[in-house]
Amino acid sequence: MRYAPLMTGVPRIFGAVEAGGTKFVCAIGNDRGDILAQERFPTADPVSTLALTHAFLEDHGRRLGSLAAIGVASFGPVELNKTSPRYGFIGLTPKAGWSGTEMAGSLAREFRCPVGFDTDVNAAALAERRWGAARDVENLVYVTIGTGIGGGVVVDGVPIHGLMHPEIGHIYPRRHPLDLNFGGVCPFHADCLEGVASGPAILARTGAMLQALDETHPQWDIEADYLGQLCAQLVVTVSPQRIILGGGVMNQTRLLPLIRPRLRKWLGGYIDRGEILTDIDRYVVAPELGENAGVLGALVLAVDAAQPAEG
Ligand code: ZN
Repeated sequence: MRYAPLMTGVPRIFGAVEAGGTKFVCAIGNDRGDILAQERFPTADPVSTLALTHAFLEDHGRRLGSLAAIGVASFGPVELNKTSPRYGFIGLTPKAGWSGTEMAGSLAREFRCPVGFDTDVNAAALAERRWGAARDVENLVYVTIGTGIGGGVVVDGVPIHGLMHPEIGHIYPRRHPLDLNFGGVCPFHADCLEGVASGPAILARTGAMLQALDETHPQWDIEADYLGQLCAQLVVTVSPQRIILGGGVMNQTRLLPLIRPRLRKWLGGYIDRGEILTDIDRYVVAPELGENAGVLGALVLAVDAAQPAEG
């Protein structure tokens, strides 16, 4: 119970940074998920990209008040172990120049405020749980299918870190019968899920993006089958109460209804739950926050990293 009036001072504001592999989205927001200022720019080299990030937070943070905390939702792999000297750093990434880049610590030193830090997909999962398509559940997976395939896993309201963080895009699917001759594009595993079902995999196999292909093209069935396998693997390993599928490939809205029956097929009747048997349209869903899931996820990280409000 709170005894002091809630509105004792100015409303608190937070900095949010979605550090993506292709673009950065910086924002100032409040603890209700309102975005008060936002800017996006392409991900270039670390020095100039982080300089733009700091300048945005400095300019807009000062204009709107002072930042109670900052959240960084980063492309990975990242170090999430707070006892590690590399906490808040990007790990070994194929993205040129970014391996070993410090993402969280420099912001904490410059702005002298707490900094929340997690993967972009864990953050997006948190945002969908707080303000989006998973408000009514505690356990969910958020998957993005685009240039790569990544997933954030939230269990009892907390993102899984563990050894590192889940990298569910790199599971091996059983190959679709019409896709046995495609080698896959993952530089580490060739035909892992990302290697056969990401946007670049579709392009390498067909010479086109999914949206350019006629709806009778077998690629639709191949893609839906692989993503149905992913959902089935998630159901039997982490038992989520909801699966949210986002990212550029999922912008093709006719794909989602093709995936749900494939999930059922791959589960083979084993999971005897209404969510799968009768209510699957509410079980495997699109993100409610759309393209803002990442930056709103960074905002959740900031709000949760801040000291409790006075009063
Ligand atoms: Zn892989």
